[in-house]
Amino acid sequence: MEISEVRVKLVNNKDDRLKAFCSVTMDNEFVVRDIKVIEGTSGLFVAMPSRKMSDHCEKCGGKNHLRAKFCNNCGAALSENRVRKDAKGRMKLHADIAHPINAECRQRIQEKVTAAFKEELEKSKQPGYKPLDDFDEPDNDVPEIVS
Ligand SMILES: [Zn+2]
Repeated sequence: MEISEVRVKLVNNKDDRLKAFCSVTMDNEFVVRDIKVIEGTSGLFVAMPSRKMSDHCEKCGGKNHLRAKFCNNCGAALSENRVRKDAKGRMKLHADIAHPINAECRQRIQEKVTAAFKEELEKSKQPGYKPLDDFDEPDNDVPEIVS
């Protein structure tokens, strides 16, 4: 699989760990959007598009985000221990929608996206820089860092 294009939309918030949204085109014919560039503790991290996981209230069946303490629908208190944890004990709140299945591919995507991000960052320092404007902003939620 060749990564034929990476489009980068920078996020201009200095305090935010979220640095950019990207869309990546594979083999000139398949696009994955909502890839995020995040400033992690050990450098830039590329997060695959993900969705917040939710579960259902035991009382009424209402759907709630995993961090919710009370049911959105009936107000019942929800158990705090219902979030699955990963091997390092971090809460698993997001699930990837699209992701590489081996480390080699992850590495390739990470390198391409990081390079495109740095290039865009340099361009943004030039006078007359125009950011991509056909990007709708996905949620600003930063998934738990896996690095
Ligand atoms: Zn409920």
